[in-house]
Amino acid sequence: MHHLTPEQIAELREDLLRMRERIIKYAEEQIRDPSNVSFEGGDEIDRANIETERYISLQRIKTRELKLLRKIDYALMKIEQGTYGICESCGALIPFERLKARPVTTMCINCKELEEEGEHE
Ligand SMILES: [Zn+2]
Repeated sequence: MHHLTPEQIAELREDLLRMRERIIKYAEEQIRDPSNVSFEGGDEIDRANIETERYISLQRIKTRELKLLRKIDYALMKIEQGTYGICESCGALIPFERLKARPVTTMCINCKELEEEGEHE
């Protein structure tokens, strides 16, 4: 039993795969093109730090993209298992519209809001 139609699931799966491709392409471009990493000021002293800053920027991109990639893979795995679209916190069925807007979501809107209230950034 699933609240999503096979067509909806196929559509969301496509969205996830497209997201995945885009992230990998983006990450590769960032790593290949050094001009993507800008640095403030043009001092000779600063130049010594370019490589370090570039490395840190790439690490930051990688961490962020990897996090999302992991979420995408997780969502794809859940599609395979038939547990996709079910809130992990309360077991509620997540509406198609919400999944369409955010295909990697694992929680219904209520649980997500509760979680975010508890987060301090
Ligand atoms: Zn929930």
